[in-house]
Amino acid sequence: MKRNFPAIASSLACVLLGACVFLAQAQDQPKAAPKPKPKPKPTTWAEKKAQILKPLTAEEEGMIEQALPGGATAKPKAKRKILVFYRCEGFVHASIVAGNRALEKMGEKTGAYRVEVTDDYAAFSAENLAGFDAVLFNNTTHLKFKDAAHRHALMDFVKSGKGIIGIHAASDNFYDWPDAAAMMGGQFNGHPWGAGGTWAFKLNDAGHALNRVFAGKGFWHSDEIYWYKPETYTGPDKLRILFSLDLSKDANLQELSKPKIKDNPKYKEILAKPKSIEVPVAWVRRYRGGRLFYSNLGHRKETFWNPVMLQHYLDGIQYALGDLKADAKPTAGKQALKAVPAPDRPAG
Ligand SMILES: [Zn+2]
Repeated sequence: MKRNFPAIASSLACVLLGACVFLAQAQDQPKAAPKPKPKPKPTTWAEKKAQILKPLTAEEEGMIEQALPGGATAKPKAKRKILVFYRCEGFVHASIVAGNRALEKMGEKTGAYRVEVTDDYAAFSAENLAGFDAVLFNNTTHLKFKDAAHRHALMDFVKSGKGIIGIHAASDNFYDWPDAAAMMGGQFNGHPWGAGGTWAFKLNDAGHALNRVFAGKGFWHSDEIYWYKPETYTGPDKLRILFSLDLSKDANLQELSKPKIKDNPKYKEILAKPKSIEVPVAWVRRYRGGRLFYSNLGHRKETFWNPVMLQHYLDGIQYALGDLKADAKPTAGKQALKAVPAPDRPAG
């Protein structure tokens, strides 16, 4: 067999050339940058605070400004001062920043109160608390009151007739202090209704002074809504419930059929009677001589530049301060209370 040497030589040359080109290209390729190490997860409050609580933008500041109520609902009987506490040992809500700012500006503009904002447990000394009319827990989580003197001081503060205000995660605290958990009225047990949804709310008591802002109508709002541990929820025997989830609406009910909800034993009480169970969202109560206002709204920062919700907070705050007269007799046994469902769908 006659070999075709020129053809073989040219094929060999091509293979060699190809290999050289490939090697040259490989050398020209930029080396893959080393993967950036994932940021270590913040663990302490100081680390979480630095990473999660970001300053508001100028636009957000402006939206808060525009949403503020025009004035106080009731004339303050004295100069009022509120201690706003926002420390978190558990989950940190980024909305804390908007909440603190809205609460501060609302007090300044309406003249209803002034605030001092802190995350330092030392604020709970008896001497310091003496200078305040109410303590407001803005989205605090898993608080640890290690100093017994601070616990006593807060309970004495309440007993002396002062106010406690809880916003959203204020009910996710005091796991080693049952008295304080009982005071708030219920303890966090998950949130079947997530922050991304828009939920229907019914007024339990349309004629109540603190529901005036809703003008006798139920409403829809986007926020995260809690279910409370049945064994810690104080219930309508002690709480005057202002509004709750309207579970006659499909939007609210549908959430309960999602696997993460329907297969979770902690929701068994809701799942047993989803259409008739009460999921309270805002309430007031008297507690050992003091006044408490709690609202579960406030996971989303947008809630803090919603004019209706700022009015809702202001009215509750003025009740807790003792300036806005409102009936805090428990809901149970008050058969004449007028409940009003949410409209069929969200406005707009
Ligand atoms: Zn939340």
